[in-house]
Amino acid sequence: MTTLQERLKTEAQDLHNQLVAWRRDFHAHPELGFEETRTAGIVAEHLHSLGLEVSTGIGKTGVVAMVERDGASPDDPTVLLRFDMDALPIHEETGLPFASQTPGVMHACGHDGHTAIGMGVARLLAEHRQQLPGRVKLVFQPAEEGVGGASAMIADGVLENPKPAAAFAMHLWSRLPLNQVVVQPGPVWAAADKFDLIVHGRGGHGATPHDTIDTTLVASQIVVALQSIVARNVNPTETAVVTVGSFQSGSVGNVISEKAVLQGTVRSFNADIRALLHRRIDEVAGGICQAFGATHEFSVPGGCPAVVNSPEGAALMQQVAEAVVGSEQVAQIAPMMVGEDMAEFLNRAPGCFVLVGAASPEKGLFSPHHSPTFDFDERMLSTGVALMANAAFAWLNEQTA
Ligand SMILES: [Zn+2]
Ligand SMILES: [Zn+2]
Repeated sequence: MTTLQERLKTEAQDLHNQLVAWRRDFHAHPELGFEETRTAGIVAEHLHSLGLEVSTGIGKTGVVAMVERDGASPDDPTVLLRFDMDALPIHEETGLPFASQTPGVMHACGHDGHTAIGMGVARLLAEHRQQLPGRVKLVFQPAEEGVGGASAMIADGVLENPKPAAAFAMHLWSRLPLNQVVVQPGPVWAAADKFDLIVHGRGGHGATPHDTIDTTLVASQIVVALQSIVARNVNPTETAVVTVGSFQSGSVGNVISEKAVLQGTVRSFNADIRALLHRRIDEVAGGICQAFGATHEFSVPGGCPAVVNSPEGAALMQQVAEAVVGSEQVAQIAPMMVGEDMAEFLNRAPGCFVLVGAASPEKGLFSPHHSPTFDFDERMLSTGVALMANAAFAWLNEQTA
């Protein structure tokens, strides 16, 4: 471990109380995707107070700051660190003293922790900025939870002026042992796409089915047939999920429905399988509709590619994680079918997305993410700060070595 790594780790530990205070404040005041105005305001004010150059309103409510030494050259390498800020439409049931004060909105994924960690990283990097052999672009992202925050920031130019050549991010994880760090090359989390299927038929009296095209019947066949895609079209050595989570058709028992709406999600790890899933859902639905005289519309209203770590990014994070938590606390896991739009950054600036364990079974902290009783062990916050601050230094040092 270098002296600087050691120092950053100690300074991150010294920030513990501050990190907890920030996190609890964000937790009590959660905001949904693209509505993170209070959160973004606090982040921007903090970044300003550190003397950083700050841009707000990037991707609607995103905040970006640059950390660089005095006299940095335009040719210096740039690394991006990303932290997400949004909460979920879930009603909190933790009973915590700092529980959500907004009914129906909750930080149930730990992004309150990520935002606090990002503020801590900003502080450490700002304090050591004269030693930075390049630039760090700190990105506080809105709307990670399925509503396109990363894409919105990219559309607003977050990857330009200067263009980062690498990107790093972390997610705390309540189902992994406290301060265990998961680092691996290749896919970590899946591509996750929503899909909508609308089936159009001909409605009519429930007693005269021969005069109708019954969309409830047609859509039911589609739901069953879609399960054949994973079973019979995807190579069995690959992994994929097709789920129909919502089925709406008709409104009354004696009327044959003229329209059915199916909504679902598809998950996969590789781009070819992802394309195959989309194509086959459309084909299967189309073929079944044709057989029954119905028609269909298929669309993918939102989604993101798989989170794939580059070999170089994972190797660098492996070394950083070993320095921060010790090699016995660095692990690998089977890739998970969860989605994360950090993928959009990693596809354009290769790097690494790591998980940091935040479970604390002895404190009863083991609820899954996105559950109304979700909470995590705050002792992971300083680990997150040490990891991300060190990752930035390690990557820049590698470029300028
Ligand atoms: Zn989430
Ligand atoms: Zn999340």
